Amino acid sequence: MLATLIYRSRLNRALIPSQLTAIVERANHSNATLQVTGILLFDGEYFLQVLEGPLDSVNSVFERINTDIRHSNIVELLRDFAPRRRFVDRGMVLFDLRTVQPAAVLRAVLRFGMVRYNQASSDRAYKFIRNFISSANNNGGVRNTSPNEWRFTHKASPFSQETLPMLKGQPCQFAFQPIIEPLRGKISSLEALIRGPDGGSPQDYFATIAPEKLHEADLASKAWALAMARRIGIGNHKIALNLLPMSLVKIPGAVDMLLGHIAHNKLSPGQIIVEVTEDEVISSYDEFTWAIRQLRAAGIGLAIDDFGSGFAGLSLLAKFQPDKLKIDRTIVTDIHLHGPKQAIVKAILECCAELQISVVAEGVEKVEEWCWLEAVGVERFQGFLFARPMLNGVPAINWPERIPVNKQT
Ligand code: C2E
Ligand code: MN
Ligand code: MN
Repeated sequence: MLATLIYRSRLNRALIPSQLTAIVERANHSNATLQVTGILLFDGEYFLQVLEGPLDSVNSVFERINTDIRHSNIVELLRDFAPRRRFVDRGMVLFDLRTVQPAAVLRAVLRFGMVRYNQASSDRAYKFIRNFISSANNNGGVRNTSPNEWRFTHKASPFSQETLPMLKGQPCQFAFQPIIEPLRGKISSLEALIRGPDGGSPQDYFATIAPEKLHEADLASKAWALAMARRIGIGNHKIALNLLPMSLVKIPGAVDMLLGHIAHNKLSPGQIIVEVTEDEVISSYDEFTWAIRQLRAAGIGLAIDDFGSGFAGLSLLAKFQPDKLKIDRTIVTDIHLHGPKQAIVKAILECCAELQISVVAEGVEKVEEWCWLEAVGVERFQGFLFARPMLNGVPAINWPERIPVNKQT
């Protein structure tokens, strides 16, 4: 099958643009044996390349490009299959936007093959090319900082520094992970993540509970999470609790019980955020509506967890508007490399800005992911990059700091 891959990248500062032709010629040599053809557009700073050929060959060329130091900020834009090549089979041809007018480049590109391609003007590859040629924003409109502009310093959190012992009769434990606003140096909240008595994962713990007792155990566990929050000394900070929505629906008086635990631990409902996952909300939406109203009426905050991993998507916000939306790790991972993920996050942000919903990016592990997300306006982050969950305590946090320009590597 004939595969198509389009990516955008930035020319590494160290390379002189005049060396380009020679480089393309050399690359052509290896592309020819792999039967990879296409075009390369260059605007003086950014590249857009269309690769066409057998899937394995296209993949191996792209892998090579990914390790090539001449390219930086590589972002995959399109992966698709096509009935035949768009461009005539003459290897990889370079179009230099610095020397030719945009309209002339577009005509040349069309002559080079797209003219003969079925319905070229409705072809997505063609649209990517046209957009690159006519746009002054070939970085996708995002000016992200680079990892070497930042250094991280490990600082203790303003809470109890110890790992607290379990309380008598405690059937489960909690690990706490901070959600932070790195550039404000602010802890936005602490998420309480359930652990088994032996420290096992939520999945392992819930597997030990009889299915008919699941919701009861989930709700009851929150008493221990809140007790731990109090012992940690969370002060005015916020605490996020994960809850199966059905726990609020199936257990009579669930919201009152939760409010009881909150009051008992000298916390206020305004400090509490209940996180429910996208899929769970959708599957029990009608019943859950009632529970949501009770939570909201009591002043408890609501977050949609794992947003983007399920089926609902943005349409969920037409039915239900939470205070907070947490973008799932599957979207966050390698966001700096992936055009479609970037488009999804931009749409989520636009929607949430209009609806005054705050956004958290979950599962941030790489500095590059954080740099890109900050640049598009995400302000709150959770992930191993900043802090891992800590059992019965609050971990120290890795705070990023901008390195003064003269000290950057
Ligand atoms: P979640 O609410 O989305 O919690 C985030 C999960 O991602 C946690 O896993 C956390 O350890 C992990 N995580 C955080 N940062 C990173 C990162 O940078 N990289 C990676 N790879 N992982 C990261 P955990 O603690 O295993 O929890 C899994 C899920 O279990 C939670 O996902 C939540 O949906 C559920 N859960 C946790 N506690 C409770 C609870 O008390 N009740 C209910 N019903 N569900 C809970
Ligand atoms: Mn959660
Ligand atoms: Mn999540």
